[in-house]
Amino acid sequence: MSFNNVNLFNLLENTQIGVVIHNANGAVEYANPAAASMLNLSLEELKEKSLDGETWEFVDMENRKIPYDELPIARVLATGKSVDNQIIGKINDTSGQITWFSVNAYPEKYDTNSSPPPFVVVYFTNITSKINDFSYRDIVQNSQDMILVTEAQNIDAPLSPKIIYANNALCKHTEYSLEELLGETPRILQGALTDKASTQRIRQALVAQRPCTETLLNYTKTGTPFWVQMNIFPLTNDFGEVTHFAAVQRNVSEMKFQSEQLDKRNSELKRIKHNLENLVHERTSELRDANLKLEKLAYFDALTNIPNRHAFMDAFSKSLMFAKRNNHEVLVGIADVDHFKSINDSFGHGFGDEVLTIVAQTMQRFFRAEDAIGRIGGEEFAFCIVLLSQVSPHQILDRLRKKVSKLHQTQPLLKGHKITISIGSVQTKELQHRSAKQLLTYADKALYKAKNNGRNTVECIQESVKLSPISAPEPLEDKSREAL
Ligand code: GH3
Ligand code: MG
Ligand code: MG
Repeated sequence: MSFNNVNLFNLLENTQIGVVIHNANGAVEYANPAAASMLNLSLEELKEKSLDGETWEFVDMENRKIPYDELPIARVLATGKSVDNQIIGKINDTSGQITWFSVNAYPEKYDTNSSPPPFVVVYFTNITSKINDFSYRDIVQNSQDMILVTEAQNIDAPLSPKIIYANNALCKHTEYSLEELLGETPRILQGALTDKASTQRIRQALVAQRPCTETLLNYTKTGTPFWVQMNIFPLTNDFGEVTHFAAVQRNVSEMKFQSEQLDKRNSELKRIKHNLENLVHERTSELRDANLKLEKLAYFDALTNIPNRHAFMDAFSKSLMFAKRNNHEVLVGIADVDHFKSINDSFGHGFGDEVLTIVAQTMQRFFRAEDAIGRIGGEEFAFCIVLLSQVSPHQILDRLRKKVSKLHQTQPLLKGHKITISIGSVQTKELQHRSAKQLLTYADKALYKAKNNGRNTVECIQESVKLSPISAPEPLEDKSREAL
């Protein structure tokens, strides 16, 4: 063995390339350690296996078992020609994973005439990682998001940063071809309405070599605007230096449109709500007014605008309860316009109405706010006074009578028409046994008496035995029944 041969053998023993030498029968004569290790078999096992070619368990790229005839060793033996880079997979018995080899084989011919060749050299390398590795470039190239890579130098130069890569989605969306984009600056995608504050923030991030996210208005080559949400980040080389920037951009025009629509809808809703509130407010005050009117209709007499019978009875009952609780006397009475029928008959119903209104207003002014009064019939007005001090009911009521009898002197409408009233009343403290209805009946009886006495008179029935004869004058400061 020559010196050179020794070196070559060492090379075989130490190389990472698997080398197996077969003899003319296909049996393994030699396998270097790399081959044994890659095939996971000892030299003896390899030799033994090679005696029966059919026991080799190799697969092709489609995972089909490769027949012995198609293995490199068999092909070289059959043809005497080399086999280059045949890809062969070996399935691991336990894990089931495939180790891929790129296999070459050639006939070793000492004697060019000998056929078949005395030896066939098969050498192979493990290419599993190359077979299994996917291409990141393919992912980027085919991403639905638009991806752009620029150089990182001279950010502020007029045509910088230079675009060195754009993926399919970006070309398609911006309508620029890759050739048109390469060497250009991403600023060609910006336009009149692109927000300057956003581009300024991007520039600052690029200068500081830090990532940034912005939503920006971009334009296609033909000028169609579209919104992109872009994420820009620096790319570093193996030495940690920032060499490029990548921008991943997503078209958010639809989202932007929807959010604008949503904003519009929201302000519309706010406007509707505001209008509705106003309407409710309006309706509420209308309702309040209507209720007031209804209340007025329910409690006030439409002609004279003083409390009606219902309201009077209500206030009358309350006065009675108050008097009973406090052991006060009450004065209950009815005032009736004299000969009212003939007033109507002589001067018309309209004039009669005027008379009723004037008499009613006169009575309302005469009595105090805490007294109960009301129109209880056609030309009949009732009242109830709680007597808090010793007063003369007769004197009080006579003042009222007189006042009415002088109305024709003060009221222009009644000029020449003397109007009189007769008043019947009952003064009592016996409220335990007297209902409101009973008291009104007594008052009516007294009224009947007043009429019989010639009208324009006052008749008082006194029911209280304890009550002393009434004559005490009312206190001066008392804002009495018109303090007449
Ligand atoms: P007396 O002195 O006995 O009370 O006689 P009088 O005519 O006043 O009493 P009478 O009960 O006979 O007549 C009352 C009249 O009042 C009869 C009715 O037509 C009239 N009257 C009732 N309500 C109204 C009204 O709202 N307006 C007008 N103008 N007249 C009314
Ligand atoms: Mg009458
Ligand atoms: Mg009457």
